[in-house]
Amino acid sequence: KQRILSGVQPTGNLHLGNYLGAIRNWVETQKDYENFFCVVDLHAITVPHNPETLAQDTYTIAALYLACGIDLNDSTIFVQSHVTAHSELAWLLNCVTPLNWLERMIQFKEKAVKQGENVSTGLLDYPVLMAADILLYDADKVPVGEDQKQHLELTRNIALRMNDQFGKKDQPVLKLPTPLIRNEGARVMSLIDGTKKMSKSDPSEMSRINLLDSPDEIEKKIKRCKTDPIRGLTFDDPDRPECNNLLSLYLLLSGKTKETVAAECQDMGWGQFKPLLTETTIEALRPIQEKYQELMTEKGYLDSILKEGQEKASSIAQETLSRVKNALGYLPPF
Ligand code: ATP
Ligand code: MG
Repeated sequence: KQRILSGVQPTGNLHLGNYLGAIRNWVETQKDYENFFCVVDLHAITVPHNPETLAQDTYTIAALYLACGIDLNDSTIFVQSHVTAHSELAWLLNCVTPLNWLERMIQFKEKAVKQGENVSTGLLDYPVLMAADILLYDADKVPVGEDQKQHLELTRNIALRMNDQFGKKDQPVLKLPTPLIRNEGARVMSLIDGTKKMSKSDPSEMSRINLLDSPDEIEKKIKRCKTDPIRGLTFDDPDRPECNNLLSLYLLLSGKTKETVAAECQDMGWGQFKPLLTETTIEALRPIQEKYQELMTEKGYLDSILKEGQEKASSIAQETLSRVKNALGYLPPF
């Protein structure tokens, strides 16, 4: 089986973008691959973070993976910081990555602007750590949302450069991964601005629906979300990004086909559509929330899963790390 690696940062709650753009797809294809799903807590400190909640947030993401349907028979769940090879490989990759490759990254520019003077070196270096995450496992495929496409391209370029500079002809040092991007759900947009992606790091809670939002919160957010004064709802109108986003959410959460949704909503106004979307969202999230609550009362069980994941991930990662160090000419440790 081909190997898949992906991850989510334990920064705040998961939202519908993370679910529809990432985790739900992982669940759908997990039987076809050997899967590694990581809680990328080293990435979480590239922006200011709260040490009081980091550990708890890490449990939350792991529990949500399981609650969303990640199956331990097909998949390994682990915490990035528990496998020290991630940091080590990131350093080695840093030294073959030209600085200007990183300065070009769109996400860096977007996140850096918001932080002004306080941008950490880690935020700039984020894509190199992500490259290490992927390359350590010789991953064949990396399922990500649209927003991570550029980072994956960078990962490939770093691997190519490493192979070019330090690999032997028929013995590449690192395996080149390919992205797995689904069109549906690839880009879920903010509820308050249909041209911006829904994001954990958006300061406004009203911009996203979190997987753990209560029915009341979901209702309030959809009631207040941005719409337009046009009656009749249609997909794919470039002048109506909010309309397209909300219809797409309804499509994905209801499980109906695009044709059905288009026909159902073509004569609707927002007053009729919003309660429908609210109800559909609440119902889609209910089973996930129930399972999550159950898991969070069993920290011992979560610990045992993460320990097992750590052991499995470490043994693979250490091998790759040794391969890279060897290619770079290091004196092996005693
Ligand atoms: P942050 O704003 O802190 O970067 P995030 O919301 O982008 O958080 P990540 O942990 O960076 O979440 O990303 C986790 C996964 O979710 C990635 O695979 C990413 O591609 C996907 N993802 C994130 N936001 C969206 C979105 N709006 N639509 C679809 N997929 C998304
Ligand atoms: Mg992100």
